[in-house]
Amino acid sequence: MKQAQIQGLNILDLVAKYKAPLYIYDSTQMEENYNRFVNAFDVKSLKVHYACKALSNLSVLKVFNRCGAGLDCVSIQEIKLGLLAGFSPEDILFTPNNISETEYDEAVAKGVKINIDNFEMLEYFGSKYPEVPICLRINPHVMGGGNRKISVGHIGSKFGISIHQIPLLERLVKTYQINVEGIHVHTGSDILDSEIFIYAAEVILDVVDKFDTIKYVDFGSGFKVAYEQGGLETNIEDFGAKFSEMFNMYCNKRGADLELKFEPGKYLVSNAGYFLCNVNLIKQTPATNFVGVDSGMNHLIRPMFYDAYHEIVNISNSEDQIKIYSVVGYICETDTFGVDRRISQVRKGDILMFKNAGAYCYSMSSNYNSRYRPAEVMVHKGIDYLIRERETFDDLVKGQIEIEL
Ligand SMILES: *Cc1c(COP(=O)(O)O)cnc(C)c1O
Repeated sequence: MKQAQIQGLNILDLVAKYKAPLYIYDSTQMEENYNRFVNAFDVKSLKVHYACKALSNLSVLKVFNRCGAGLDCVSIQEIKLGLLAGFSPEDILFTPNNISETEYDEAVAKGVKINIDNFEMLEYFGSKYPEVPICLRINPHVMGGGNRKISVGHIGSKFGISIHQIPLLERLVKTYQINVEGIHVHTGSDILDSEIFIYAAEVILDVVDKFDTIKYVDFGSGFKVAYEQGGLETNIEDFGAKFSEMFNMYCNKRGADLELKFEPGKYLVSNAGYFLCNVNLIKQTPATNFVGVDSGMNHLIRPMFYDAYHEIVNISNSEDQIKIYSVVGYICETDTFGVDRRISQVRKGDILMFKNAGAYCYSMSSNYNSRYRPAEVMVHKGIDYLIRERETFDDLVKGQIEIEL
């Protein structure tokens, strides 16, 4: 029988060693994703900032630091993790929204690059930090994204400074003599069509044209990965070639080589992660064949939150008769991982493996139902490392203060 492996290590052996539920990451796959992304572009200067909200374990951050990536952070805590993992402050972009002045102050003190997406903060920076160069997040109102929850470019979106408010933006920048060194746009996840990107990009480059202090233009992310075999994904080579041509033409016209930045999260880590759990129960009802596992939306919420699809494989019995199952968790809430899935016959005690469990899986996990978060393991250069311990009861009560009743 063919065994599921990561860098030559048998995944079932790793599950026996570390126990399930368990996340396992493949650092070679992360490096391959990074290199493939970088090689798709042909421009003078490119910096890829890993959007670490996708998966923020320190060891994962270190892998990308060694690749030469920068980091995209959305909270002061992510900045602190990035610095701890060895990133230089100038390689960290801070792209938050709706945060307090205090959090911006802390970020300025750390020396990271600041991205601003509203007028109030722009005035705050203009009066308090006139010497700090900043980046502006623009919303081009180009609708993208596979689903409304993750589309952040449309007209009703809370993100960015509206493209329709550029005259006001120019006035504020002039009044406070703000040094605008970067322009940023992030239109949302799951954009499939290179043409949408390039259209949004051209709208953004018209804004870049209005400022002569610009050093870089950051086009965010939205690169789609395939969640099932043959699933739709961004053709990165095609996109990179078309985009580079357009960007180089702009730089020629401007007479300056601007740095091109992107901030992929999912693209870099999604397919480098696997989630493993135990089958506790097979339950046949008149309508459905349920497989009950020792996990739920507390460990991997994407199917319930976004209707996301994760391929599920029975790695304990991978070449048996294919049957139709609904895979459900143990949480007292809607907790369905997959409906009517074709899976090789499942028995109590088998190990199920979820693919594409690198991005927005562990990082969105919780203690709901007072369950422990799983352990995380990384396979690096053919060796397995425990990179986060499984939680224990002490973690659940840590910080709680019992009152005398
Ligand atoms: C979430 C986010 C990203 C990464 O998005 P992916 O779809 O994971 O590539 C990039 N930039 C910003 C500002 C984000 O909020």
